[in-house]
Amino acid sequence: MAYDTDNIFAKILRGEIPSKKVHEDEHTLAFHDINPLSPTHILVIPKGPYVSFDDFSEKASDAEIAAFIRAVGKVARDAGVATDGYRILANIGENGHQEVPHLHVHIFGGRKLGRMLA
Ligand code: 5GP
Repeated sequence: MAYDTDNIFAKILRGEIPSKKVHEDEHTLAFHDINPLSPTHILVIPKGPYVSFDDFSEKASDAEIAAFIRAVGKVARDAGVATDGYRILANIGENGHQEVPHLHVHIFGGRKLGRMLA
C-alpha cells in the first residue's frame, strides 16, 4: 500500500495536529492515544513513511528499527507499566482493522487486561 502523507499520524509528525508526546528521538515518536482503552494507552510510531510492519521491516534502516524497539521498551518503563505487565499490539491492514495507515504499536497497561482474542 502506498503511504498516504495526509494520514493523521503524518500530520502529528509535522506538528499540524497536537499530541501529548511522551518520547521523541531521531527516528521515533510516542504519544498518548486520543481515545484510551486502558489507563496507559500510548502509541509508538516510526517517523519514516511506513504503513505496515512488513513494510517497515523490509525498508527501514537498522538504526530506525533499533530506535523503534528501544523506544517501545523505554516508553513502557517510563509509563510505569513494566513491572506489572502490559500489552503491545499492532493492527495491520484491513484484516487487522488498522485505522491509521502509518505503522504504530499500541502499549496498553495500568490494569489487568482481558485475554487476547484473535
Ligand atoms: P488502529 O486501529 O489504526 O491500530 O488505531 C489507531 C489509533 O489511533 C486508535 O486507538 C485511535 O484512538 C488513535 N487516534 C486516532 N486519531 C488520533 C489522533 O488524532 N490523536 C491521537 N493521539 N490518537 C489518535
